[in-house]
Amino acid sequence: MSGNAQGSHRPDVVRRAAGDENLERMEPVMDGAQLRERLRQHLGVLVEQIGPRPPGSPGNRRATDYLRTRLSAAGLDVAEAEFVTQWWEPEPCLLETPGGSRRELIANPFSQAGEVRGPVVKVETREALLGRSGQPPGAVIVLGPAIGGDPVVPKSFPFFMPDEHRELIAALEVLRPAAVIAVSERHASLPTFEDPELCFPSLTVAPEVGAQLRPGEEVHIVFRGRNHRGHGVNISARTAAPGRRLVASAHVDAKITTPGAFDNAGSVAALLVLAETASSDLGPVEFVFFNGEDHYDAGGELAWLEATDLAEVAVNVNLDGVGVRGRRTGVTCLACPPPIQDRIARLGDEDSWTLMPPWFESDHAIFAMRDIPAVAVTSEHVHDLLTSVAHTPADTLDVVDVDILLDIVHRLRGLFSHLDDDLR
Ligand SMILES: [Zn+2]
Repeated sequence: MSGNAQGSHRPDVVRRAAGDENLERMEPVMDGAQLRERLRQHLGVLVEQIGPRPPGSPGNRRATDYLRTRLSAAGLDVAEAEFVTQWWEPEPCLLETPGGSRRELIANPFSQAGEVRGPVVKVETREALLGRSGQPPGAVIVLGPAIGGDPVVPKSFPFFMPDEHRELIAALEVLRPAAVIAVSERHASLPTFEDPELCFPSLTVAPEVGAQLRPGEEVHIVFRGRNHRGHGVNISARTAAPGRRLVASAHVDAKITTPGAFDNAGSVAALLVLAETASSDLGPVEFVFFNGEDHYDAGGELAWLEATDLAEVAVNVNLDGVGVRGRRTGVTCLACPPPIQDRIARLGDEDSWTLMPPWFESDHAIFAMRDIPAVAVTSEHVHDLLTSVAHTPADTLDVVDVDILLDIVHRLRGLFSHLDDDLR
């Protein structure tokens, strides 16, 4: 398959001084109505005009072009870190059983294309899988929900790989299956495999589909979907103030399967408005639009890290999944000293803000795992949305409330200036 993503990053960063593009300067945006309008504009571009924006794809390029244009127009010093990756386009696959049933399904993202036939082998537990090491190659292995129901970390994911995931992949690859079918309640939004480096094609199916696959019967599967090589950029922009800085971040990428409104255009819109309206006396802040939080190789995150001296980063504030209609904004701290914890606890009123338990995911984890204080801002009970809305066509502008985004812009603007004082 493709080359190792970590080896393909280019460390060079193109710095673009403010004003070297021929852009009209932005009007200062001050009152609530103007801020709300600006948030709507950014959401409309990202969600409705662009839509799916996985790293490496044309949609992703349009999104980063838009960010570059807006940040430059605001007079900020824009930096780009480039990376190479792959993106994938789904096409309907066919699953046929001897009883004559034919189903159209979508393969797991990045699955190899091609036609396979093989006998069904059902495996319900890890022990049962390890016990099949002598089985002939060419089977269609069906993983039951206990072993196939959760997403497996891709081989190239740079930040962590649980031992049990590594063992599961190794145990499957050694069997040289014709295909692997994972049975999962969460098949619609969380494919079990999303990894261009696996040596077998794969599907994730609902339990009722899995129940129709009988051990020993030969099934026929036509896998379709296209993998493309592409490149992307990680866009960031800084205020002029020198010194150790606050990194404010939100990921701009979205899966190919979704317009990505709450995940994560709402956060990008809020962060972009904060950047566009940053006052000239704001201390050192870098606005980072990570390009890979929802992608198998986190290419933008790695490219930014390669170009960054983390000793110069004092604190991170990361937005992911903010602005969900009808929910309070949730905030949590990782690796934060007591003064920052106190400030976060007082960030918003109880009707619209809530302190959440620590959340070890998304881009703030990159900072916290290096002992850099990190503040995560999201929506209350965000994990509920991971099985129904996130990464699906249902993540539209209907899910996002612009007034919540406006409240976040106001609160974070205050937080940024106070954190700057705390850190000086
Ligand atoms: Zn996200």
